[in-house]
Amino acid sequence: MDNCIFCKIVAKKIHSDLLYEDESLLAFKDIRPAAPVHFLVIPKVHVPTLADCGEEYAMLLGKMMTLGAKLAAEQGCGLSTDQAGNLAGGYKAVINIGPDGGQEVYHLHLHVIGGVHPWRNERI
Ligand code: 5GP
Ligand code: ZN
Repeated sequence: MDNCIFCKIVAKKIHSDLLYEDESLLAFKDIRPAAPVHFLVIPKVHVPTLADCGEEYAMLLGKMMTLGAKLAAEQGCGLSTDQAGNLAGGYKAVINIGPDGGQEVYHLHLHVIGGVHPWRNERI
């Protein structure tokens, strides 16, 4: 898509702070981070929203989710257990859909947002 900013990132016409790339996915840091860890996982193929994804996208969506989890752990916000056995860490995984969902860029993307409770005082 000629006018899509994320397609331009996929095509390397626009620079991004890349975390991961394979034949079907790209992950890069959000340009306006809402938390200490904030990156986006996108499919290379242009799909405007999650609402456009039929069953044929199930595999791609699953890959996006599992990649987000793997990179979140690499970025330091994966789940862990402290010495007392309490669960620690974690992050938020968000897909905004459409105007009422707060979507600004109409190329499907998964936000991964981590830090200490970033959603208590930030956007997203
Ligand atoms: P949405 O509101 O559509 O769910 O989120 C779009 C996200 O893309 C926003 O958090 C915004 O900061 C990010 N973004 C928009 N343009 C660019 C860009 O050119 N580069 C990067 N790295 N992130 C972008
Ligand atoms: Zn696109």
